[in-house]
Amino acid sequence: MKQDLPKNRLATTDETGSRVYLYPAGVKGKYHSRKQWIHPLLMILFLVLPWIHVDGRQLLLLDISRREFFFFGLHFRAHDAPLLLFLLLGFTFLIGLVTAIWGRLWCGWACPQTVFTEAIFRRLESWIEGNHRERKALDEGSLTKEKIAKKTLKWALFCLASLVITHSFLAYFVGSRDLLKMSLSPPTENWTSFLVILGTTAVVLFDFGWFREQFCVIMCPYGRFQSVMLDSQSLVVAYDTKRGEPRRGQGGGDCVDCYRCVQVCPTGIDIRRGLQMECVACTACIDACDEVMAKIKKPSGLIRYTTLTELAGRKPKHLNTRALAYSLLLFVCLSALGFLLWNKNFLDVTVLRAAGTPYELIPSPSGTLILNHFLVDLSNQTGKSEMVEFSLSPETQKLGVELVMPRNPLPLAEDATARADFFLRFPQGVLRQGVKKIFFLLRSKQGPRELEVTLVGPGA
Ligand code: SF4
Ligand code: SF4
Repeated sequence: MKQDLPKNRLATTDETGSRVYLYPAGVKGKYHSRKQWIHPLLMILFLVLPWIHVDGRQLLLLDISRREFFFFGLHFRAHDAPLLLFLLLGFTFLIGLVTAIWGRLWCGWACPQTVFTEAIFRRLESWIEGNHRERKALDEGSLTKEKIAKKTLKWALFCLASLVITHSFLAYFVGSRDLLKMSLSPPTENWTSFLVILGTTAVVLFDFGWFREQFCVIMCPYGRFQSVMLDSQSLVVAYDTKRGEPRRGQGGGDCVDCYRCVQVCPTGIDIRRGLQMECVACTACIDACDEVMAKIKKPSGLIRYTTLTELAGRKPKHLNTRALAYSLLLFVCLSALGFLLWNKNFLDVTVLRAAGTPYELIPSPSGTLILNHFLVDLSNQTGKSEMVEFSLSPETQKLGVELVMPRNPLPLAEDATARADFFLRFPQGVLRQGVKKIFFLLRSKQGPRELEVTLVGPGA
């Protein structure tokens, strides 16, 4: 294992470009101990969150097929796009801010790719196949009964873990209750869902069982953006070259060239070559090197969390311009979001003129009356059932306008949408140059609301 890594290609590819499978060694240390309780907590959060319902609503649901979004008690639909835009922008700027200050904290500590790989898949693998040397020897060895038994057990448990992850993952998008119903019914009743669950499980299994660090190194878009989001003030995992070099055998630096930091690295890199895109800041090399430093009675921290400014011996700036810019943008987004939420009416009402003839003339004993046909679209996002009643304002009634609505009041179940027809009948004299703006009233548990419509007739 003590060998220099290639300088002109990824550590996980050979000279032909094929994958070099990694066997990272286990590590113990202060960061590893912290992960022992942080990862299980995050795992429970990721897996359990989509199964929690409060007041009958899923706590977090992104139902793309119905274009509905439930976010901790709030209900959004497609027409709430501006709110969702600010929510997504705010999330993006938050990621930018966290990255500008704490670097790849998300990648190393909280990303599901890291959490599930470390807390479930690598753990199962070490438990069944042994440490990194034993795992490598098993893979390179001939096919024995022991190897078949170990591989069968490992992949069976991997399949089980992938099924659990897939169900929780899909529950965020299709709703946990619907998913449970589909999963418990025979595949013949719902082939599409069955195949989607099967396909997603296969992808999850492939990713966590085999692909692993390749996802972070070559696929993750967040990883690709690091070079533009980090600056010399951001927190990174780095090797202190001034202290470590020249290495043992070449001079009196603290690095004993033991390659322990390389052995434990899940992306197979040598952090002593400086900051690299493949580094997911998992801190394994910090723990590994601290262990070595303790053995040779040197201070810990040859590899540590630090900033490039500090490593270069420069004084850190008090104001990180990038972090300030992200904070400002985040503040603008949160303010806009707060404003929109504060003013949002969770009983959404849209009045449209019905397609076809804009008006009809109706002869009557008192003269010709005009009839306008409208549609009203209602979206109940209040979390309660509603009874919506339509009426005309007293001023409008005085003009002789009549409301004709087959179903009034209109019952609207919790989270339901409805469309209803209504007609406005009025004498021709109401119109001025063929048009007249009037108001009608809508009463619900949310309080009264006034809605404006335009009457049209001949001469409009
Ligand atoms: S673990 Fe520490 S001492 Fe060993 S090679 Fe890495 S940096 Fe040098
Ligand atoms: S270099 Fe260190 S922190 Fe970065 S991925 Fe490798 S072990 Fe983790």
